Amino acid sequence: MLTGEQYLQSLRALKPEIYMFGEKIDTAVDSPILRPSVNSVKATYDLAQMPEHEDLMCATSHLTGKKINRFCHIHQSTDDLIKKVKMQRLLGQYTAACFQRCVGMDAMNALYSTTFEIDRAHGTNYYDRFIKYLTYVQENDLTVDGAMTDPKGDRGLTPAKQSDPDLFLHVVERRDDGVVVRGAKAHQTGISNSHEVLVMPTQTMKPDEGEFAISFAVPIDSPGIFMIIGRQSCDTRKLEEGCLMDRGNSEFGGMEALVVFDNVFVPNDRIFMDGETDFSGMLVERFAGFHRQSYGGCKVGVGDVLIGAAALAADYNGAAKASHVKDKLIEMTHLNETLYSCGIACSSQGAPTESGGYLIDMLLANVCKQNVTRFPYEITRLAEDIAGGLMVTAPSEKDLRNPKIGPYIEKYLQGVASVPTEDRLRVMRLIENLTLGTAAVGYRTESMHGAGSPQAQRIMIARQSNLEHKKQLAKKIAKIDG
Ligand code: SF4
Ligand code: FE
Repeated sequence: MLTGEQYLQSLRALKPEIYMFGEKIDTAVDSPILRPSVNSVKATYDLAQMPEHEDLMCATSHLTGKKINRFCHIHQSTDDLIKKVKMQRLLGQYTAACFQRCVGMDAMNALYSTTFEIDRAHGTNYYDRFIKYLTYVQENDLTVDGAMTDPKGDRGLTPAKQSDPDLFLHVVERRDDGVVVRGAKAHQTGISNSHEVLVMPTQTMKPDEGEFAISFAVPIDSPGIFMIIGRQSCDTRKLEEGCLMDRGNSEFGGMEALVVFDNVFVPNDRIFMDGETDFSGMLVERFAGFHRQSYGGCKVGVGDVLIGAAALAADYNGAAKASHVKDKLIEMTHLNETLYSCGIACSSQGAPTESGGYLIDMLLANVCKQNVTRFPYEITRLAEDIAGGLMVTAPSEKDLRNPKIGPYIEKYLQGVASVPTEDRLRVMRLIENLTLGTAAVGYRTESMHGAGSPQAQRIMIARQSNLEHKKQLAKKIAKIDG
């Protein structure tokens, strides 16, 4: 297992093509904009080295019997599934940001069972290839970016009918030793902080869409791959000297990018699906299911920080004893723990797949994510209510440090007299960061669209709801025959 420092060195050794603000940068590690997101991934390595977190952060590889980071593990039991969620809550609390490494974990778990079942149906050898790849990932403790979302162009058209076929990533050339792919993946969490990218099809493909039903893994610095970093609200505060406090969370963050695959060669041993359209739906659903489970952990951990920040704001404002404030904090906790309950429930009701790898309960995982599309918004609303307007009108740290105006800020933005004004401002900045700033990408909008937009879960809920069975139950009680 790598230490956090070794992880940083391993990233520096890669040569990815990263573009941001119109310029090429060499590595995310030394970029002031991207470093906080690197730190969040680094936390997945750091915490795995701490004895008090070993039970959650580490697992025993079912392939090698060695101790590995849980982010590289294939779940072998419901206990593993539950520990995954607990690990994510812990990391959410520790970073108050998206720590990015879950997408690869979820992709590997989905591919593990799906490749097994493709081989059984088609006589292919994807599973063996994938085991070889997984062993490599585990042995080197790699961070893998799971890449599913294609740009998709006109949502009313199928992949083949798009005005530009590259709007869905697809095979453009076949060689004896592999394939060449072209296309892009959008909103790629953690890509610049990863070693590998593991690509999956973005949706269920029809029988004539075989060239789009492609899954593979390549290093992020493979020729033809480049990433264009997405902007975040308040991102350039990270470039300002002497304004650490204004960032709200100066150490940790997340990142997303548009990743272009411009004629990228994929060797045969890194291809895990190629044209088996009948299994594209299974892969998409399993990956999405795992990532919908994930949100019952990570968002809850970040929610814990936000609830804590709101409670601190109430203390510092002198409003903690007001019954409506107490009630709002109870409501926030109730909502947050409901999300956690869903994450734990879909894990505890998990079951083994044909491969032996465990899968969550799909209905409950989709209910989990559907709640995540709503509750963090309400938690955010209540945090803003409790914090007051100062969370968006507070002056900068430089003003606070200014010898002439600083004392006026100290004097007039004071809340409870025993609390330094600076502490009050710090907690306001943290709430701003989580609700409107850089972390809001991971906590707010990602709660809506990450792991699939709300309608995607509703389709899955409809499919799993077994209404016929429920009708029979009602008929029996009502004594309706037939
Ligand atoms: Fe992990 Fe959550 Fe970030 Fe997804 S959004 S990568 S589950 S921390
Ligand atoms: Fe996500």
